[in-house]
Amino acid sequence: MSPPHEVGAPDQYGLVGHPVAHSWSPFIHGMFAKAAAQNLIYRLFDIPPDDFRRETLRLMTGGIRGLNVTLPHKQAAAELVNELTPRAARAGAVNTIAFFENTTLLGDNTDGVGLIADLERNLGIDLADKRVLILGAGGAARGAVGPLLERELRSLTVANRTPFKARKLAAEFADMGPIAGCTFADVAGPPFDLIVNATSASLQGEMPALPDDLVSESTICYDMAYGRGDTPFTRWAASRHARRTSKGWGMLVEQAAESFLLWRGIRPGTEPVLAALAQIE
Ligand code: NDP
Repeated sequence: MSPPHEVGAPDQYGLVGHPVAHSWSPFIHGMFAKAAAQNLIYRLFDIPPDDFRRETLRLMTGGIRGLNVTLPHKQAAAELVNELTPRAARAGAVNTIAFFENTTLLGDNTDGVGLIADLERNLGIDLADKRVLILGAGGAARGAVGPLLERELRSLTVANRTPFKARKLAAEFADMGPIAGCTFADVAGPPFDLIVNATSASLQGEMPALPDDLVSESTICYDMAYGRGDTPFTRWAASRHARRTSKGWGMLVEQAAESFLLWRGIRPGTEPVLAALAQIE
């Protein structure tokens, strides 16, 4: 009789954030791992801001091979790692850390490419020459601005509750294209082609107060937030007769596929995961 097939301990990955309990990342990476025949486990780590640096380093020295990073830690993660990919350096925000055996901590940002993949590939949106409004100037917006400007937009407006952060973000990316930062009340019409909600207001059941004339029947409204049912942002968009509203499931899956590629050298197909999540919705 042949000996039982030896299977080594699974490689460990996970997500750090605060909160993380709502995350679908373990489900997504579990499906990717199965499809790509990769022996790994993916866990959630709820770490408050004051403990982020110490606990993340502890996880890395404890054998974790890679981490995703979610709110509110993306900018702190950019300061923690000792190497950044060019897109993460540009964003000043990290959503993926890879830990290499030579003790390099590499920080990447896959949020922007994930958003673009969802908008273009999954939703069929051509971004060239479009007027785009992004709400929020936190880690997710930081990752999205560069890849959006690479699409030769007509203009990109960044609006944020704390206007200083929107103006700072716009100034950092001004060399890449027409971008301006302002507060929510100062966003000026005419209606935009695309409005992306990159605030975490939906998570608190809130919707930023915006001027009335920003949405027309040709405006597409995209909430990076995801979850079952409507969000305050998608309700707001529907009440203004937006052409289409979408939530961030596709971005979530596409950015996860890019993280998986960094960690495992394989970009898994996203269609089966998108189909499974559509069943949950
Ligand atoms: P951050 O904590 O880095 O930034 C939060 C942003 O939201 C800031 O601009 C903040 O403004 C703003 N904000 C928070 N609360 C309110 C409110 N009540 N009203 C108006 N603005 C508010 O978070 P992230 O950038 O990492 O994440 C933002 C959102 O994007 C979250 O919902 C997250 O789940 C989602 N996301 C989705 C992804 C996906 O793959 N689908 C990937 C990444 C993020 P201020 O600067 O004034 O504090």
